[in-house]
Amino acid sequence: MYTKKLIMMFFFKKRTTLFIAILLLGVIGCAFLLSYNFSENINSDTSNINDGNQTLIFANSKESLEISYKYQEVYFIKDGQTFSSFLDQFNLNINEKVKVINLVSKEIDLKKIRIGTKIEINSNKINDKKDIDYIIIYPSKERSIYIDFDLDEIKLKVNKLKIFKSSKFVEVDVNNSIFQSMTAKKIPENIIMEFIKLFSFDIDFQRDIRKENILTLYFDYYKDEKQNYVKSDVINFAKIKLHNQSFELYRFTNDKGELIDYFDSNGKSATKALMKTPINGARLSSAYGMRKHPILGYNRLHQGVDFAAPSGTPIMAAGTGRIEVIGTNGGAGKYIRIKHLNGYKTAYAHLNSYASGMSKGVKVRQGQTIGFVGSTGLSTGPHLHYEVWFNNKKINPMTMRLPSGIKLNDSQLEKFIEVKKRIDLEINNETN
Ligand SMILES: [Zn+2]
Repeated sequence: MYTKKLIMMFFFKKRTTLFIAILLLGVIGCAFLLSYNFSENINSDTSNINDGNQTLIFANSKESLEISYKYQEVYFIKDGQTFSSFLDQFNLNINEKVKVINLVSKEIDLKKIRIGTKIEINSNKINDKKDIDYIIIYPSKERSIYIDFDLDEIKLKVNKLKIFKSSKFVEVDVNNSIFQSMTAKKIPENIIMEFIKLFSFDIDFQRDIRKENILTLYFDYYKDEKQNYVKSDVINFAKIKLHNQSFELYRFTNDKGELIDYFDSNGKSATKALMKTPINGARLSSAYGMRKHPILGYNRLHQGVDFAAPSGTPIMAAGTGRIEVIGTNGGAGKYIRIKHLNGYKTAYAHLNSYASGMSKGVKVRQGQTIGFVGSTGLSTGPHLHYEVWFNNKKINPMTMRLPSGIKLNDSQLEKFIEVKKRIDLEINNETN
């Protein structure tokens, strides 16, 4: 939809002349007139008309009936495009180009410029000559880099967008998939993923969630001065209501604002973590990472952690789940692997023996003894080799971010109850 526009501007010059510039902007105009908000960074000697969100037009007429336009083009860095190759499409001489690259690289690592980075090119066109007036690069939603082409100098300015914290309460009725149901409610993807992670040790998202279950979220997000959504932040409260039970979690931080964990309304860390150390009184003897294999003698990635402990020390199931593999497994010796919910597995190697009743398919509880430390397979001495798998990839159990299973002491519990009250109150205000 193109609207024809008639714009008239009057300029008085040297007390004598009056010139009128008339611009007819129709279909041709759309080629170079783009519609963006222009509240900042406007040169003071020009007038501007910002017609809603549609067109931005400047006209400036001089004695020689010279007509100048100001216009704005918006680009996005494409896949495979460098900032340098992006600049090639404009009429910059080599010095200008080098200067621009040098200035911008002070602010962002141009080797890592993100595909989709928004760049505005603002130009002056005087008669037929087009010159860049300034460039604005938006490396993130909160930052803009402003390159000003002054008469004889190119200058850099960085703007940080003012953003304001806000919170949002959303209730989701599950229809189809939980992801689709949440997306339909415009919940940002990072919040959805966080929500799923929070409950991933209590709820099997494939089996437990059904139609008409209700998900509740209360999360922080940021908006700019124009009330546009900028980004979302943490979940303060989350709840899943299944047919016959529900799970709820409140976010609890220390005085520095660092996350302690999420707790249920009684201050219990409702989510059971996988244990980082599924054995008592052991010492970590070999960490996850590259190392020289003690028997094979060459360097390879150690995809688990070793705990040295006397032979016969009980080994616990790191989390609730089902035994997926049990038996002698090559270099791992006597071996158990447990399948937990939502893509997590744990494996235990070099066992001396298995606890009674352990066999494939048996359900085990977190903390239950499943076997005993030994030195079977490729092992130099009694130790437990422990692995955590996520989606069939081995991950480092020591650094994995999982719910802590922390128990709050009395003073912490008091503080938590205060936090919980505050969150409840906020939610109440949101919903009323
Ligand atoms: Zn090991």
